[in-house]
Amino acid sequence: MARDPLDLLVIGAGSAGAGVARDAAMRGIRTALIDKGDFGSGTSSRSSRLIHGGLRYLELYDWKLVFEASRERRILLRIAPHLVWPRSFLFPVYAGARVSWWKLAAGLWLYDALSLFRNVKRHQMLGKRGLLRAEPALRERGLKGGARYFDPQCDDPRLTLANVRGAYQHGALAANYVRVDRLELADGQVRGARVTDVLTGETHTVRSPVTVNATGPWSDGIRALAGEPAALRLTKGAHVAVPRERLRNREAVTLTSPIDGRVMFVVPWGALSYIGTTDTDAEVEPDNVTVTGEDVVYLLRSANAFFPDSRLQPEDVVSAWVGLRPLLKPDDLRDPGAVSREHRIVEGPTGLISLMGGKLTTYRSMAEETVNRVLERLSRLDGRPANARSRTRTEPLPGGEVRDLALLVADAKREGVSAELAEHLARTYGSEAPAVVRLARSNPDLAGPIVPGHLPIKAQLVHGLRREMAVTLGDLLIRRTHLFHEAPGHGVAQAPAIVDLAAEELGWDAARKAAELARYLDEVRQAAGFRTQLRERLRKIPAPSPEGGAEPAP
Ligand SMILES: Cc1cc2nc3c(=O)[nH]c(=O)nc-3n(C[C@H](O)[C@H](O)[C@H](O)COP(=O)(O)OP(=O)(O)OC[C@H]3O[C@@H](n4cnc5c(N)ncnc54)[C@H](O)[C@@H]3O)c2cc1C
Repeated sequence: MARDPLDLLVIGAGSAGAGVARDAAMRGIRTALIDKGDFGSGTSSRSSRLIHGGLRYLELYDWKLVFEASRERRILLRIAPHLVWPRSFLFPVYAGARVSWWKLAAGLWLYDALSLFRNVKRHQMLGKRGLLRAEPALRERGLKGGARYFDPQCDDPRLTLANVRGAYQHGALAANYVRVDRLELADGQVRGARVTDVLTGETHTVRSPVTVNATGPWSDGIRALAGEPAALRLTKGAHVAVPRERLRNREAVTLTSPIDGRVMFVVPWGALSYIGTTDTDAEVEPDNVTVTGEDVVYLLRSANAFFPDSRLQPEDVVSAWVGLRPLLKPDDLRDPGAVSREHRIVEGPTGLISLMGGKLTTYRSMAEETVNRVLERLSRLDGRPANARSRTRTEPLPGGEVRDLALLVADAKREGVSAELAEHLARTYGSEAPAVVRLARSNPDLAGPIVPGHLPIKAQLVHGLRREMAVTLGDLLIRRTHLFHEAPGHGVAQAPAIVDLAAEELGWDAARKAAELARYLDEVRQAAGFRTQLRERLRKIPAPSPEGGAEPAP
């Protein structure tokens, strides 16, 4: 990157930046993409993992946003069928609820209409009996009925990674663990950045006539380097994952918390269900945000109110994650090019282009608009034609070149892979699953599970190191596989063996191995900090009733 001439530097490889880099590379723009952590390690691996039309925006009368998100939902299901899959949601309505059965019926009709009736399936209204047949563990008292509607679920860090890989396949340069410390200015215009390789400490200058700031909740920090004012209001959202057998939910469930009336979700994820999310003002820097005991109590109490037999306790929490929503401060930015209330693309006086706000669901269209701006700028600078059109609506993401995942599953089964593992590999890698199966067949040591009792196999680690640019233990356990979130104990017992395997692949010496282990243990400790807080402060969690109205904060 420091050597080659570039057209565009993209700072931040979350869904937004990775989407920009891929679209730009596909339009022939010489692009470099960097992230100070792993690809997708920011907000884009800490979401509710939903690609949603935005049911709640209906209450805000934001039809345009719902229409756009519904279109993106369709596109993503088509270009990444392995990473974005349909999920059915039940929405129970209880006596006295803010959203009545009739309001829900009208809203869901509109939701389907704004997707041009081309969502996975149309919604169905259900009576009390129908709802309880579908979800018998739900609290019966006060239940009036409800509805079933559809929104896809996704693998958020792998969706981001697929964009990074797509960018790379179209000629972009991409590096994780490279941090921007300073913007390079010439004649008052940003002309690249001074960057540090976080893993080695080396510094370099990356030069480019156009720079895009796609650093999500960190955007104000990069804007400050260009002398621009803060534009974001960050709010914190936490999730907890618990064994699904404890909640006994069959489908995803949309709830309104009896504590504060906020809409939240309980969503299946393999043998787990995750509950989320909280929404509180963030009082810390994005690097220091953690799940607190209070977050966990709020989520468990809310879920317990609707699944009364589950009696979830903090000990049931297998893992928790937290992210910051990069929301725009209202009316702080008056940019004529602002394109929607949800995200803004701002060109500052130094020419820095900041892509701010938005959500995972709409990353592709946000990226398309941003690259249109980049092209206009490049055209002004060097006279190149600005009419190269985005192809990301139709071109599948890496792994997405497959119409029917069942064929991949059948192929893997023919190679002797169990049905469950075949399904897991097809979902994780799409059309690239056979590469992982081949690795496992070439070396029987790699065919076994990384953590006993969990699906991911060791061949996935090697694949992650060779083909997916994993360079730390956390990359492997948190984002290339999800064992950090799925395995009780976060895979710590297996960590030394994984470090040995990675050391063989990447040539780590003893010091690097020790550093990797220490760094991972630190990540685990940080993610589990809420346990210590709760042990000190809490005994048992009482279950509020869904009709109980506002409850005092726990
Ligand atoms: C709790 C929660 C739940 C959500 N659920 C959903 C959902 O279900 N569906 C949905 O559509 N949206 C959801 N969202 C919103 C969505 O997750 C975000 O809008 C989206 O992930 C933001 O992506 P991004 O690329 O802008 O930012 P990020 O993913 O945060 O990426 C920014 C990147 O910039 C990097 N960076 C920062 N500073 C520097 C620097 N100096 N040098 C280099 N790199 C740097 C960071 O390391 C980071 O990786 C949710 C958000 C939250 C917080």
